[in-house]
Amino acid sequence: MLCRLIYASDVATPFDFGDLQAILAKAQQNNPALDITGLLVMVSQRFLQVIEGPSENVNLLYRKISRDPRHGNCSLVEFGPVPTRLFNDWSMRAIHTGLMNQQLRTLLASKYGTDEPGNLVVPDQPFTATSFLFDVACGHGMGGEA
Ligand code: FAD
Repeated sequence: MLCRLIYASDVATPFDFGDLQAILAKAQQNNPALDITGLLVMVSQRFLQVIEGPSENVNLLYRKISRDPRHGNCSLVEFGPVPTRLFNDWSMRAIHTGLMNQQLRTLLASKYGTDEPGNLVVPDQPFTATSFLFDVACGHGMGGEA
């Protein structure tokens, strides 16, 4: 059964762009064999990741990811069966919102809000999280990719 899982987590410190690239390289190595596709977005000190694929493989991968010391406080935003993939373009893509084009950042800020220092807010509700990730995926040509 095809399913979609979205979770949010806190980035461990220290963490730099090289760590994001290492995670992406590992994901791109492992995910095709599991028929997994998705998107990982780093928003200041938070991750938001969507994983789509066969239910058993998504479960297996999430168990592995949630034990990874490079982040913590993983919280499940959404997990359930879906009729079709929304994020089927990449085995995994990693995007850092701090490095993305100002046009996309402005769009995300106006739709999803910012906190007091002006950082983008990571949505924690299923619909808004899916919509946020989809907007990032659609604007992926606007920079910020690992
Ligand atoms: P190996 O690469 O051989 O790793 C063995 C062990 O070492 C694992 O427990 C691993 O967690 C740990 N490890 C490896 N490198 C580091 C490091 N630099 N620092 C600390 N511990 C380390 N993996 C995927 O396959 N697909 C994904 O989509 C994916 N997304 C991720 C998203 C986030 C936010 C994070 C933090 C990690 C993600 N990972 C992903 C990595 C995942 O957590 C595992 O590290 C990886 O799947 C293990 O691959 P492996 O089984 O080939 O083991």
